Amino acid sequence: MKKALIIGAGPAGLTAALEFLKKGDIHPVIVERENFVGGISRTAQHNGNRMDIGGHRFFSKSDWVMNFWKEIYPDMMRRPRLSRILYERKFFDYPVSLNANTVKGLGLWRMAKIGASYLKASLHQIKPEKNLQDFMINRFGKELYLTFFKDYTEKLWGIPCEKISAEWGAQRIKGLSIAKTIKHALFKNSKETSLIEEFLYPKLGPGDLWERAAAEILKRGGEIRFNTNIEKLNLKDYDYVLSSMPVKDLVNALDGVPQNVKEIANGLVYRDFITVGFLLDKLEIGNIKDNWIYIQENDVKVGRLQIFNNWSEYLVQDPSKIWLGMEYFVNEGDSLWNKSEKEFSDFAANELEKIGVAKKENIRDSVVIQVQKAYPAYFGTYTQFDTLKTWLDQKENLFLIGRNGMHRYNNMDHSMLSAKEAVKIIHNGGTDKSSIWNINSEDDYHESK
Ligand SMILES: Cc1cc2nc3c(=O)[nH]c(=O)nc-3n(C[C@H](O)[C@H](O)[C@H](O)COP(=O)(O)OP(=O)(O)OC[C@H]3O[C@@H](n4cnc5c(N)ncnc54)[C@H](O)[C@@H]3O)c2cc1C
Repeated sequence: MKKALIIGAGPAGLTAALEFLKKGDIHPVIVERENFVGGISRTAQHNGNRMDIGGHRFFSKSDWVMNFWKEIYPDMMRRPRLSRILYERKFFDYPVSLNANTVKGLGLWRMAKIGASYLKASLHQIKPEKNLQDFMINRFGKELYLTFFKDYTEKLWGIPCEKISAEWGAQRIKGLSIAKTIKHALFKNSKETSLIEEFLYPKLGPGDLWERAAAEILKRGGEIRFNTNIEKLNLKDYDYVLSSMPVKDLVNALDGVPQNVKEIANGLVYRDFITVGFLLDKLEIGNIKDNWIYIQENDVKVGRLQIFNNWSEYLVQDPSKIWLGMEYFVNEGDSLWNKSEKEFSDFAANELEKIGVAKKENIRDSVVIQVQKAYPAYFGTYTQFDTLKTWLDQKENLFLIGRNGMHRYNNMDHSMLSAKEAVKIIHNGGTDKSSIWNINSEDDYHESK
C-alpha cells in the first residue's frame, strides 16, 4: 500500500490522515514536532484549568466541516457569542454597531465626524487601494478607521496599516460595511440579523476534539509519530507528502531550491503570540458574559482578553473563579518574547489592573504560553508568494495544506478543507493543485458574521 507522509498533527494534518483512512487506499503517517496534537488549536492544561490558545469558535459555512466536527464530538456545546471592544475604558459592541450605546460612548460630536468622513470616503474612493489603510478608509471613512481599526490592527501586525496588503482586508473584513451596519440598526428585528450568533465548542476545549480525532486515526490503523521535527526532507523518499509545517521551514528543509525561491521563503513574515492565563477571584467589571474583548486602548500592549468561563465552564476547575486569558501579538525574539515567565506575568498583571479589568491582588495563579508563527503575515516577501507556490506545486508528490502550510490566514475549517481537497486529488490520481489554493480565496467567511 502506498504511504503518505503528513507533516503536522494540527487540524489540517489530522483531517488529511482521517480522509486517507476513510478512503482506505493510502496509509497515512503523521509526523509531529511536539508531543501533543492540535497545533495552534490545542488546549493547554495548567493546574486543572484548560486554556484555549486564542479562543476557537467552531463555525463554518461548510456542511462537510460541521458534520466532521459533530461526528468526532457529538457532545459539542452551542455557545452564544458575545464580544465587545474596550476603548477609552468604555465597552462598545463588536462588530461596531449603530446604537444608543455607541452614540453615548463616542459622543455626538465624534459621531458627526464619523458620519462626515464616511460620506467623504463614499464620494471620493481611494483608487487603487494600495494597502490596508486605503481599504479600510474606503469602507468605513477615516474617522471610524482611526477610532476602531487602526490601533488594534497595528497591535496585531506590529507594523503600520499602510504597510499591510489590502488583500488581508479583503479576506478578513470584506463582509463589513457601514451600509450594512445602518441596515442592521434599522431592521434589527428581521430574522437574519439576529445579534446573537452561536457557535459550537467542545466542552473541554478545541484540543479535546483534536485528541479524539487522533484517537480515531490510531483506531483506524493510521500512525502518529510525536517529537519528530522535520528539518531535512527528501521528497523522493515518499509516495506523497502533505505539509502543514510553515512554508518557510519546508523550503529550508528541501535540497535543490533555486536561490530566488529560497529568498522569498526566508522573507516570509509571521506574527507570534503570547497568551497569559490568570486565575482570578473576581473581575472589577462585574460578571460579564463576553467570550472575548478586543482591547483598543493604546496605552497597553495587550490585544485581546478571553474569559474562558464563558467559552465553557468545563475549562475551569473551580467555578467560583474567573479563568482569563490576556493575548499579546509579538515577534519572536523581541523584548516581550524575551521576558521570563515571571517578568511577563507581572507585566500583564499590571496591564490588567491599568485597564480596570481586575486587580493584581485578586490573581491566584498564572501561566504564560508562547506560540510561534501564530499568524502568517501578508507583507514581507508575500507579494512574490506566487513564484514560491508555483515552484513547490511543480513537485508532483508534494501538497501544501493548512494555515502556515499555505501561508494563508486560514481558520480551522479552511485548513481542514485544504487537507480534504489534497487527499481527493491524490485519490483521483491528479496533480493539479489549484483547487486547494481556491479554498478561502474568494468566499465570504468572516469575523463580521
Ligand atoms: C489567536 C488565534 C485564534 C484563532 N481562532 C480561531 C477560531 O475562532 N476559529 C477557527 O476556526 N480558527 C481559529 N484560529 C485558526 C486555527 O488555529 C488554525 O487555522 C489551525 O490551527 C490551523 O491548522 P493547521 O493544521 O494548518 O496548523 P497548526 O495548527 O499550526 O498545526 C501545524 C502542526 O505542525 C507542526 N509542525 C510545525 N513544524 C513542524 C516540523 N518541522 N516538523 C513536524 N511538525 C511540525 C506543529 O507543531 C503543529 O502541531 C485561530 C488562530 C489563532 C492564532
